[in-house]
Amino acid sequence: MTEQVTRATFDEVMVPNYAPSAIIPVRGEGSRIWDSNDNEYIDFAGGIAVTSVGHSHPKLVETMREQAGKFWHVANVMTNEPALRLAKKLTEKTFADKVFFCNSGGEANEAAFKLVRRHAYLNFGPEKHEIIAFTKSFHGRTLFTVSVGGQPKYKEGFEPTPQGISHCDYNDIDQLKALISDRTCAVVMEPIQGEGGIIPADVEFAKQVRELCNQHNALLVYDEVQSGVGRTGTLYAYEQLGVTPDVLTTAKGFGNGFPVGAMLATDGAAKSLGFGTHGSTYGGNPMACVIAEAVIDIVDTPEVLNGVKAKHELFVNGLEAINEKYSVFKDIRGMGLLIGAEVVDTYKGNAKAFLTAAVEESLLVLVAGPDVVRFAPSLLIPDADIVEGLARLERAVAKVVANS
Ligand SMILES: *Cc1c(COP(=O)(O)O)cnc(C)c1O
Repeated sequence: MTEQVTRATFDEVMVPNYAPSAIIPVRGEGSRIWDSNDNEYIDFAGGIAVTSVGHSHPKLVETMREQAGKFWHVANVMTNEPALRLAKKLTEKTFADKVFFCNSGGEANEAAFKLVRRHAYLNFGPEKHEIIAFTKSFHGRTLFTVSVGGQPKYKEGFEPTPQGISHCDYNDIDQLKALISDRTCAVVMEPIQGEGGIIPADVEFAKQVRELCNQHNALLVYDEVQSGVGRTGTLYAYEQLGVTPDVLTTAKGFGNGFPVGAMLATDGAAKSLGFGTHGSTYGGNPMACVIAEAVIDIVDTPEVLNGVKAKHELFVNGLEAINEKYSVFKDIRGMGLLIGAEVVDTYKGNAKAFLTAAVEESLLVLVAGPDVVRFAPSLLIPDADIVEGLARLERAVAKVVANS
């Protein structure tokens, strides 16, 4: 028998680490979602930059059904063809020579951070274990990833946390120069900070970070969990910075909602995770791998990637037009379809007000920290849905302004 459930059920039976909105989505198609009362919403959130090709994409539904009838899982004592095909594709399309599969962004980063420690340990000795990351960065919710992440609130009360990690302000090369040393095993950065407020790296900064890593025999890790898989208009954002990392992590948009992540690495870095040093029961399972391969096939075409750039223009122009009328944003920024609008001081700390008002206008948006409204729709969102969504956003903005 199916149990009757409502939003109130959440407070009864779920650990209270989330505070979900009142609506409960029950189905989606492309960039539209319907809730349990059959209300329709335009989805500018994409499940936080996850549903990269939209809901219920027919090719993904077909791929999934086909694999579901074959097999879902074998232990990693055997390999499988979907994993091998996907790894081959990723190495052909990126800087990487080797791939490790897992199930989430946090796990991909956990693998990356373990790899850089072990790489330094094997090649230079245990003193070389320090990791430098950036303030405001986000790398996941495991104990190691909250420690590397640059938002202290996420590790509060969970101490003692892993040590040997320091943080430096993003885009501040002088601070990094002061911190980095021959004890540094890696520098970890997002090429565009997502959770931290949609802050792109300066190209010059990114290049100098690479230089500093080279000078100190430190590996450069790019966390592309949010920026990857076409989100910024290239398959991975590093391509646009003209910087090649040694290790890259990918998840979120990689599976379009099916849990799958990967760590990509050069041969030199990858060999430090030798037999038995790391693993994952589900990582690289055939279901996840056929889906991720299908996502990559859909996204990595000139039409889709150029489309992301064109849709960026349409989006940003629309936001600017709204802002000309209402003056609610002090900065509109981002890359591709990862866009942030920082609110003016009147709404400082309350970007959430725009999210709440948007839901009332049947539009799903995100925030990135307390001051930035964030948009991360499907890369395939039809222009008409962008236009309609922006019209709904304008009504939401008008409401926020009227009530303030
Ligand atoms: C979301 C995110 C993560 C964590 O991914 P999970 O799949 O939630 O573990 C890590 N890094 C970045 C940049 C992210 O945006």
